[in-house]
Amino acid sequence: MYLNTLHLGLAASASFFPGAGNSFGRPNQNATYDYVIVGGGTAGLAVAMRLAEDSSYTVAVVEAGGFYQIENDNQSVVPAYNPEFASLYDPTANPTVDWGFVTTPQPGANNRSLHYARGKTLGGSSALNANIYNRGTRGSYHQWAEIVGDDSYLLENWLPYYAKGTNYTPPNTDLRAANASVPTPVNVSSLYSGGPVHISYSNYALPFTSWVKLAFESFGFQNVSSFSDGWLLGAQYAPSVLRPDSNQRETSETSYLEAAFASGRSNLQVYTHTLGLQILFSENKTAAGVKVRTGTTDYVLSARKEVISSAGAFQSPQLLMVSGIGPADILAQHNITVLADRPGVGQNMWDHIDIEVTYKVGVDGFNTLANLTYAAQQADLFHSEPASSIYGNYGADFIGWEKLPGPYRSNLSSSAVNELAEFPADWPEIEYEIASVVMSGIEGDYNGYGTFVVVPVTPISRGNITLQTSSMLDPPIINPNWLTSETDQELALQAVKRGREIISSSTMQPVLIGAEYAPGQTVQTDDEINEYIRNNFFMNWHAACTCRMGQENDTMAVVDSKGRVIGVNSLRVIDASAFALLPPGHPVSTTYGLAEKLSADIIADRRSEI
Ligand SMILES: Cc1cc2nc3c(=O)[nH]c(=O)nc-3n(C[C@H](O)[C@H](O)[C@H](O)COP(=O)(O)OP(=O)(O)OC[C@H]3O[C@@H](n4cnc5c(N)ncnc54)[C@H](O)[C@@H]3O)c2cc1C
Repeated sequence: MYLNTLHLGLAASASFFPGAGNSFGRPNQNATYDYVIVGGGTAGLAVAMRLAEDSSYTVAVVEAGGFYQIENDNQSVVPAYNPEFASLYDPTANPTVDWGFVTTPQPGANNRSLHYARGKTLGGSSALNANIYNRGTRGSYHQWAEIVGDDSYLLENWLPYYAKGTNYTPPNTDLRAANASVPTPVNVSSLYSGGPVHISYSNYALPFTSWVKLAFESFGFQNVSSFSDGWLLGAQYAPSVLRPDSNQRETSETSYLEAAFASGRSNLQVYTHTLGLQILFSENKTAAGVKVRTGTTDYVLSARKEVISSAGAFQSPQLLMVSGIGPADILAQHNITVLADRPGVGQNMWDHIDIEVTYKVGVDGFNTLANLTYAAQQADLFHSEPASSIYGNYGADFIGWEKLPGPYRSNLSSSAVNELAEFPADWPEIEYEIASVVMSGIEGDYNGYGTFVVVPVTPISRGNITLQTSSMLDPPIINPNWLTSETDQELALQAVKRGREIISSSTMQPVLIGAEYAPGQTVQTDDEINEYIRNNFFMNWHAACTCRMGQENDTMAVVDSKGRVIGVNSLRVIDASAFALLPPGHPVSTTYGLAEKLSADIIADRRSEI
C-alpha cells in the first residue's frame, strides 16, 4: 500500500551549501539578538532570511534538528523517497528528522492512534512533505480577510507575497512526455516573481496520470492552468516545490537559508540541535528572549525587538502554553502561571484526510522500482543533469477538484448540505490527488499501481493540542478529531463513491488491470465503505490554525492579522498554526506566503520606529 517504503540504493546527492563565515550561534552561551526565532522550519527560515536582509539587524534561529542532508542519508533529497516519511504506525521510522508524534486514539478512525510526521530538521516539514504546491481560492482568502478584519488578506493583496517567495520554471518539454504538457499560467510574472523557492514540474511525469487527465476531461473537469491564481475547480498537473534541473527536493533550507548563507551575512545565526524551552517575559508582558537547551545545558537567547514562534502547528501552541499563554484551565492543571488567558491556544485544529482508491495498472509506477534493473536505470537518469527519472517525482503529480456533483449530493442530509454551503462558492469540496506510490510487496510484481487519493477539503471537525506536562521536552497531546463531524463522514462516503466512478470509467479501462485493489470488490455497501474509511484513512499532514489568527475582540483568536500574540507584547507566531483557516488543498504555499507577508509587516514596523 501507500505506506510501504522504497529501500533502493542511490548515492547521496545533496546540493546544500552549509555556509561560510559565522552562520552558526555558539551553543551554551547566553547571547542577544534583535530577533529570536524558535523553529527553523518552513516558515521560520523564510522569516529569518527576510529579517536578516538588512544587515543592521541580528537574527537567531533555534532549531531542534540539524541538516537533513547530513543526518538522514538522501531520503529528503530524492523526491521519490517521500513515502518514507508517511509511516502511520512506526513513529521511530525517521528519528533524525521526525519528531515521532503519535495522536490520541481517534474515534473517527475506529480508535486508531496514528504517527503524525513533523519535520525536526532545518527545513522542518518541507523536508518531509510531498511538496504539492497550490494556493487557495479567491473566496477562501475573502473569508480569511473577513475573519481577521484585514483586507490585506484578499487575493489581490496577498498574492504579491506568495509571488515574492517563489520563482517558476515551466516543464522541460524536451524531457517530459508530450502527453504530460502543462499550459503556461496566465500572468506568470505576477504569480511568481523570482523568490528563492523553485516551483516547477518533475521531468518525469507518472504515466498513470496521463490516463487520469483524459478521464477528468471526459467528466467535464475544466483544464485549469496553475492552481496559483485563486481558482482551483478543474484538473491539471500539480506544480511541485522542486529544483527544476536536478529534480531534487526544494525546502526552506535549500531556498531561503542557502540564499542567506550565500550572501555571506553574519547577522543570521542558526542554533542547530537546540530546543526552545520557554519564552521569557519582562515585567510588562514583553517577550524578552527564549530559554533554550543544547545538549544538557540551558542558556538564554535574549531578543531586543521580538521573539517569533515558528515551531509549527503542534509546538507553537505548546510553546505558548508552557510560557503562560493559553487556556487558563489547562495552564492551571500544569501549575503554569497565567500570563494571558487565551482559550484559543491549541484549539481549532484543521486538517485533511486521505482515502485511497487503487488499481493495479499497465504502466510504470513506484512499484516498478522493485525491479532492480529498472531501478538502476532510473538512478542513472536521476544523476544525469538535467535529471529525468521517476526518482525525481514525489509520487503524486496531478490534481482534480470539484464540488460534490448532483447525484452524489442528493444523498447528503440537509444539515450536511447547509454546513457545506458555509464555504465559498469557489471552494472545492473534494480533491483527487493522483498518485502511483503503492508498493505491492508481491515477488515479481513490477506493475505500477494507480491511486485516487480522495481528500475532502471542507473539514468541519476540529482537533486540539494540549499539554502532557509543562515541559517542551515532552510531546504535546495531539487530538486531530478527524471525521467526528457527521457532515465530514457523509462527504467522505460520497467522495469515495465518486472517486471510484471516475477511476473505473471507460476512459480508464485500457490501463487498469484486474479488479479494484483497494477498497476492493468486497467493499460495496455504505456500511462497508464507511468501515473501510474508518479503518484506512490517514492524515494529509495539513495540521493548521492551532494559534488561529483573528480580531482582538474574538476570544478564540490567538494572534492578530500581523501575527502578534494577543495579550502580550513583542511576540509573534508565524507558521501554519497562525492560519485563520486552512485553504483548500496543500498548505506549504500559504506557509511561505504568510511568512513573506508577516516578515514585511515586521520590517515595516522597524521603519515606523525610525
Ligand atoms: C509527510 C508530509 C507530507 C506533506 N505533503 C504536503 C504537500 O504535498 N504539499 C503541501 O503544501 N504541504 C504538505 N505537507 C504540509 C506542509 O509541509 C506543512 O504544512 C508545512 O511545512 C508547515 O510549516 P511550518 O513552518 O508551520 O512547520 P514546520 O515546517 O514543521 O517547522 C517547524 C519547525 O520548528 C522546529 N521546532 C518545533 N519545536 C521546536 C522547539 N521547541 N525548539 C526548536 N525547534 C522547534 C521543528 O523541528 C521544525 O523544524 C506535508 C507534511 C508532511 C509531514
